[in-house]
Formats: sequence, C-alpha cells, structure tokens
Amino acid sequence: MRLCITGTPGTGKTTVAKILSEKLRLPIYNLSDIVKEKKLYKSFDEGRDAFIVDIEKLREFFKDKHRFIAEGLVAHYIPCDVLVVLRAKPDVIRERLKERNYTTEKVEENVEAERIAYCATEAFENFSGKVFIHIDTSNRTPEKIVNVIIEGVKRGGIVEEIDWLEG
Ligand code: ADP
Repeated sequence: MRLCITGTPGTGKTTVAKILSEKLRLPIYNLSDIVKEKKLYKSFDEGRDAFIVDIEKLREFFKDKHRFIAEGLVAHYIPCDVLVVLRAKPDVIRERLKERNYTTEKVEENVEAERIAYCATEAFENFSGKVFIHIDTSNRTPEKIVNVIIEGVKRGGIVEEIDWLEG
C-alpha cells in the first residue's frame, strides 16, 4: 500500500504516521527529511526558511516504491493508493505551532492556510488514487485518528465535511 498523509503543519502528520507505520508495518518517509537528504528541491527560500520542492524529482524518488507511508506538506503530489488529509481547527493549529520556534508571521500564515483549506483543496484537486480520507483531528487522540484512518481504508474512503469559514 502507498499511503500519503498531507495537511497544514501542526495537524499531526508526523505523529499519526509513526503510529500508523507500526500498525501497518510500512516504512515511513518524512518528506522534509527526504527532500533535504536526496536534494529533491529546486532552491531554498530564505524568506520562508524552506526548500522549494521539485515535484518531478519527488515523484521520481517514489516511482518504484510500492509499500510506504509518506508524510509531509507535499505528500499529495506523490502518486498513492490512499491519500489522508488531516485537518485541525485553526486555533488548535495556532497553539501547536506556537510550541515551535516559528515566527508569529509563519504561525499565522499556516493558521490562515488551514482556515481557507489551502492544502486540502490542493490535495483534493490533485488526487487520482483510490481512497481519499479527509478528517478533523481537533478532538481526537492520535490513536483514535489512526483507527479512523484504518476504518476509512476498509470502507474505501471517508470525507468529513470541514469548513472553518462557517460559523
Ligand atoms: P505535523 O507533522 O503535521 O506538523 P506533528 O505530528 O508534528 O504535526 O504534531 C504537532 C504537535 O501537535 C506535536 O506537538 C504533537 O505532539 C501534537 N499533536 C499531534 N496530533 C495530536 C492530537 N491528535 N492531539 C493532540 N496533540 C497532537
């Protein structure tokens, strides 16, 4: 199984991927690490303190891999069988990212990205696999999220309606 986990920073991708990889016995790829290690980037954006990922190189790296969990902000660009999009309330994202050594600007940029479903929309529009899982992690433990994902895979997908712009 090729399972990718995407979502705004702070939604819990790394945490969930670790538990899932143990349960499903699949090797795990953290995309920020792989992008750096294998030089799968075009350049480095000093302003954002982030690598600009070369999507073609990223796809090439995963081309011959058929059993993996890949997690990261660009995971939805990798061809996969199961695409998981983790969502979390913008306030939850803010609290989680404040714990990191991010600037306030970077925290708020990500909070806004989650509010407008930036990553989820990109993921949905790019998806060409079989199983799409879109879930709210805000009030769930990582273990619970993993169970929901496994259930989603069995059911052929789960798409929770999530709209932070409402209400
Ligand atoms: P990402 O990989 O999406 O940036 P992380 O897995 O690094 O997110 O999680 C961000 C922070 O939120 C970490 O401190 C982690 O322990 C915490 N966290 C992740 N998932 C949950 C959850 N379901 N409930 C509470 N805290 C969580």
